[in-house]
Amino acid sequence: MRLALAEAERADRSGDVPVGAVVLAPDGSTVLASGHNEREAGRDPTAHAELLALRRAAAALGQWRLTGCTLVVTLEPCTMCAGAVQQSRVDRIVYGARDEKAGAVGSLWDVVRDRRLNHRPEVVEGVLAEECAHLLTAFFRDR
Ligand SMILES: [Zn+2]
Repeated sequence: MRLALAEAERADRSGDVPVGAVVLAPDGSTVLASGHNEREAGRDPTAHAELLALRRAAAALGQWRLTGCTLVVTLEPCTMCAGAVQQSRVDRIVYGARDEKAGAVGSLWDVVRDRRLNHRPEVVEGVLAEECAHLLTAFFRDR
């Protein structure tokens, strides 16, 4: 999560909402890829930290299936990213702050643990939640 927080701070530099993500290999410690929100920087509505990190992790492994991998992200994923997590077959999501306004991993929806789906990753929430949330509140306060 510390690495994801460092990624989030990079987003802030381009005026993007500070969200950072890291994908860990099945060994649980090797960093395969990371990403931060680049919607403003890339003028791309889908350039969320999680999507960028998942794409880079797949490129690093040379396959789209990220079975056994862990996605670590500072903010609860939105519906788009929760869908991408489901599609990528990531086995574990670890997130920091909850997103009560748009979260799709427990807050507004729980897309990844929907029992109708055959792949449901483990979810660990609240890791360094205060630090993750503080980065966001500081960003919006400065706007
Ligand atoms: Zn998202």
